[in-house]
Amino acid sequence: MAAKFLIVGAGFSGCVLANRLIKQLDCTIDIIDERSHIGGNCHTSRDEETGIMVHHYGPHIFNTDKKEIWDFVNSFVEFRPYVHRVKARVDDKIFPLPINLMTINQYFGKALDPKQAKIFLSSLADHSILHPTNFEDQALAFIGKDLYRAFFYGYTKKQWGCEPRELPASILKRIPVRFNYDDNYHPHPYTGIPVEGYSAVMEKMIDSPAIKLHLNRKFFPGEQHEEYNHIFYTGPLDTFFQFCFGRLGYRTVTFERNVQDGDFQGTAQMNFCDETVPYTRISEHKHFTPWEKHDKTVYFKEYSHETTPSDEPYYPKRLDADKRILFDYRKKAATLNGFSFLGRLATYRYMDMHNVIDEALHFATTFAQAFKTGKPLPVFPNIEDSI
Ligand code: UDP
Repeated sequence: MAAKFLIVGAGFSGCVLANRLIKQLDCTIDIIDERSHIGGNCHTSRDEETGIMVHHYGPHIFNTDKKEIWDFVNSFVEFRPYVHRVKARVDDKIFPLPINLMTINQYFGKALDPKQAKIFLSSLADHSILHPTNFEDQALAFIGKDLYRAFFYGYTKKQWGCEPRELPASILKRIPVRFNYDDNYHPHPYTGIPVEGYSAVMEKMIDSPAIKLHLNRKFFPGEQHEEYNHIFYTGPLDTFFQFCFGRLGYRTVTFERNVQDGDFQGTAQMNFCDETVPYTRISEHKHFTPWEKHDKTVYFKEYSHETTPSDEPYYPKRLDADKRILFDYRKKAATLNGFSFLGRLATYRYMDMHNVIDEALHFATTFAQAFKTGKPLPVFPNIEDSI
């Protein structure tokens, strides 16, 4: 008899998992999501007023260094090449990000070549910090006080609502420093945007008679779900356990929508690094699809704040106190039967789309093999090192 699975959450984790499970096991799958749309925080749809494809939960640019992940997403829809070139506004001046030779030369009013810039930045770096463990030390050890203060301190304080020295160094490691004029924000060789948006990718992934999507349906952890052989949960881990060990810290984002004629800022993303500007960045979405023509433009100012119980969780803070709570939830999850936990929210990690997809692909294979052979079923993806 066919197995029956429930997947909670219709974002990339849930949709990739469903797509792979039906290929590897004789099964039917229900996917439920409490929101009214597919796609989780990668949801896109056309703006009714302007016709522009909007990333409703902030800009998403698909990028990966793994050809198999690129081929996988491209097997569903057409992606077009897109290079993300972020601009940063500091003290009423505009600079390219990530920090590259242009940023360094413009900021310091110099004309350094790559070798000179390396020596110059090394002269600014704090060499007394040998093993940086937090965001601030990571920055000071590599780029020094001036660039850190200008580009990272204010933005990070606004974005995360705490002092950068409380945050892990891994957040800063997301952004490279380059000693050439390459201002491509994402260093990965495969980068693009799906022509009809990310929600269309996920719709295609679950387009099968064996998969049924139920939107506007909330999951209640205490409920009986005896009809299912297994439940895959991709929502927030603390919500699943009804916050019995406390709430995990998340930042959320509020978007202020604006429409006008023409071109507002001339680029897809402008970061506002000064602490005095209340928003972190402005995304102007028609620049994500340069192959389309639109007379009007729609742009969004992003305000970051602490997540209250009624907000969507966006960015896991992963402060030390959070990690202790996470440890307790993970221990409790491991004692359950019939549940697996997957994705950004259920594993409480700052993950990009390609990481989420990669992990869901591998998890589906591991799960399917264990299920077929009667071995213990995996509860989490293999992430022990990064808890
Ligand atoms: N960041 C910053 N200034 C910037 C851009 C980024 O200080 O202009 C820091 C900030 O702490 C942010 C982190 O670097 O959270 C990672 O930036 P990324 O662009 O990857 O953030 P995302 O697009 O995921 O929000």
